[in-house]
Amino acid sequence: NTAITLKQRPNGEVRDDDFEIKQSSLPELQDGEFLIENKYLSLDPYMRPRMNDMQGYMDPVGIGEVMVGEAVGEVIASKTDAYQVGDVVTAYTGWQTHYIAKADEPMIYKVDAKGLPLSVFLGAAGMPGRTGYFGLTEVGKPKEGETLVVSAASGAVGSLVGQVAKSMGLRVVGVAGGEEKCRYVTDELGFDACVDYKAGNLDADLATACPNGIDIYFENVGGAVTRAVAKLLNKGSRVPVCGYVSAYNSEDIANVETPFHVFGAMPEPPEHRFFLVTEWQEQHGEATALLADKIKAGEIQYRESVAEGIDNAIDAFRGMLKGKNFGKQVVKLA
Ligand code: NDP
Repeated sequence: NTAITLKQRPNGEVRDDDFEIKQSSLPELQDGEFLIENKYLSLDPYMRPRMNDMQGYMDPVGIGEVMVGEAVGEVIASKTDAYQVGDVVTAYTGWQTHYIAKADEPMIYKVDAKGLPLSVFLGAAGMPGRTGYFGLTEVGKPKEGETLVVSAASGAVGSLVGQVAKSMGLRVVGVAGGEEKCRYVTDELGFDACVDYKAGNLDADLATACPNGIDIYFENVGGAVTRAVAKLLNKGSRVPVCGYVSAYNSEDIANVETPFHVFGAMPEPPEHRFFLVTEWQEQHGEATALLADKIKAGEIQYRESVAEGIDNAIDAFRGMLKGKNFGKQVVKLA
């Protein structure tokens, strides 16, 4: 087994020497256990805050422990009737090539791939897809004709939010970094407009793209984008706070300006709350199947950045936190 463990807590941007790549041989399977060989690892923004020594909504990763994360893989040995050799599963295995799971372990799901590439179940039909879907429909409460803005629009969550909102009859405006990502968001994902927040005219460009103001802001990034959006929010607007990736590498995370500071300070704050995809865990199967069907039918487009081999996971992770990824970031294992 090859695993990437946390060696020390990073200060700001992650560095190679914050991690350690460890080789080990796998212990023999015990009764009730099964062995997963991972095919793809998921790299997600939330992993960065979990490297800090700070209690968030999940425990920090311990020093010397395998970096947390979900993967999709195949069962290659089993000593339980619950999982057969050849089953494909998603599981929170962490950043490693193999994982021994127990039959009754929570958060392991068999994948009905429906002919789709397995990596899709880490992205558009996986955790980020479900996050976008439930965050939009349950927290954003979209209505036909409204204007929705979503940040990190070309990414795993953002691309899903915008496409679903579009199919519900909203005006959909993305915010993304750079011309190429913005072109993708309008031309391939079908958003009505996309604002390049790096182009230097964020306030004016956003106002032009949202002539009727903003009714829903799906928050993924925080920072300057949040401040610009706040100026355009309509009365009765809703803000599902999904995350604020611009702050995740901050050296002083406890004192960072969060979206809650920005929206909370407004004279008439929008309805805003942080949500976690696990609020809808019971609908995991249903939502996964729904998204997979939409992808299969060509109703949802997605894009991936694929790093080759576990040795490239650290670099890909560092890049994702500053927008080098274009779409869902995964690591393909040999
Ligand atoms: P993405 O695929 O969108 O990748 C992250 C993107 O963030 C980058 O590509 C980059 O896009 C953007 N970004 C990075 N730094 C900045 C910055 N300083 N300012 C503005 N944008 C920046 O990731 P995901 O779709 O996986 O995640 C999106 C958000 O959703 C994150 O905040 C994440 O924490 C959150 N999330 C929350 C969950 C929940 O349950 N609440 C579950 C899953 C995700 P660009 O080049 O356009 O800047």
